[in-house]
Amino acid sequence: MHDMNDLRARLATLKSEYRKVQGEATIETLRRFRVATFVVLPIHVVLTGWFFFYQAPPGRPELQAWAHSLYMLQAWQALVLLFFGLFAQRYLPRHETANQTGVVLQVLLCASYLFFGMVAAMLDVRVGHGIATFLIICQGVAILSLMRPLLAIGMFGMAYLVFLSLLRVTVGDAALMASLHIQTLSTALISLLLSLLMWHQYTRAVLLRRQLSLSNAALLRKQQELEILAQRDALTGLYNRRQFTVLAELELARAERIPGGIALLMVDLDFFKQINDRHGHPAGDEVLRQVSALLSAGVRSTDLVGRMGGEEFIVLLPHTDLENALAVAEKLRKTLRERPLLVQEVQLPVTASFGLTWLAENQKGLLPSLYAAADQALYSAKHGGRDRIEVAMPNLAQSA
Ligand code: GH3
Ligand code: MG
Ligand code: MG
Repeated sequence: MHDMNDLRARLATLKSEYRKVQGEATIETLRRFRVATFVVLPIHVVLTGWFFFYQAPPGRPELQAWAHSLYMLQAWQALVLLFFGLFAQRYLPRHETANQTGVVLQVLLCASYLFFGMVAAMLDVRVGHGIATFLIICQGVAILSLMRPLLAIGMFGMAYLVFLSLLRVTVGDAALMASLHIQTLSTALISLLLSLLMWHQYTRAVLLRRQLSLSNAALLRKQQELEILAQRDALTGLYNRRQFTVLAELELARAERIPGGIALLMVDLDFFKQINDRHGHPAGDEVLRQVSALLSAGVRSTDLVGRMGGEEFIVLLPHTDLENALAVAEKLRKTLRERPLLVQEVQLPVTASFGLTWLAENQKGLLPSLYAAADQALYSAKHGGRDRIEVAMPNLAQSA
């Protein structure tokens, strides 16, 4: 009882899974038919001509009638194929997975071919030939058309029943009928088997592809997360020293050609150790976060803000002359000085010292010499009483 329920549940999942895959499978089938049209349509046209000009040997009028019927049948099927080909041409660019109309189109196309195969084979049987046409068409449909199992069973089951009825009307001889019956049954069964095999392979490939693209997306997300972790400081979200250096080097390389000059500003909080000592490390962390946000908000989005480590920050201002760089530094200094930070419901006054250096347009400087100059300026600011800005020019002889 339990097993039966299990089986039923598995069948239900398989059914809904298959229904979902059928949308893609139908598109793939219509694409295959569209390509096949280029090969099959000329064959129909050639055969139409061949049967049209066929001359039966003398005394064989039934062959002439056979060729005549086949010429009309071939011409008819050529038209049917052309119609479906044109329809698919319009349908395919507009759909990524097929809707009901697409599946109906696929079923009709297969049915039209199976019917064509049956009528052609029946005409052949009438003049003493075998049912090879039916066999070829059934297998062609099985290979080209991706159908979920229920659809395939319906399709080839119908083909078997309809062709058998047609044969019964056509063939009088009981022995011949028995032989043709067995051939028809095996053709239908082998085609069904082939179709199931094709479907099985296709669904496995599709499901595998889906799984692959899901894990690819997850991998990409992880990679992006890792990139952020590698470039950003975990506490403040600012660029870490490494990434700041990479980006600053790029800006410097560009600065030689872009007017305005470039400024580098080092910012170090004053007596930060006391904040940690008095209010605790978590409060110190919160101060660092808030100062980071203030620095980022106080500069242009094209400026670079990084954390050098500890309570020391660095800001790169591209396309900025010395006067403007000083104005930016002064604005940042004032913002910090005049707005005490609210940390753990306590107002904490925070000030910082600033070391500024600047590279004029057309001057060539390396980042280490800019770092050294800004550091020197910062040292002067600290020794000059803190909460102030000092400027030092880079030693360009050193960097050249
Ligand atoms: P100065 O005005 O001379 O710069 O004095 P200062 O106290 O700011 O400088 P000092 O170099 O003496 O102390 C820096 C302190 O910053 C010491 C260290 O514990 C603290 N610090 C460094 N990194 C962090 C951090 O990530 N979080 C917190 N809360 N404190 C940090
Ligand atoms: Mg400090
Ligand atoms: Mg420091």
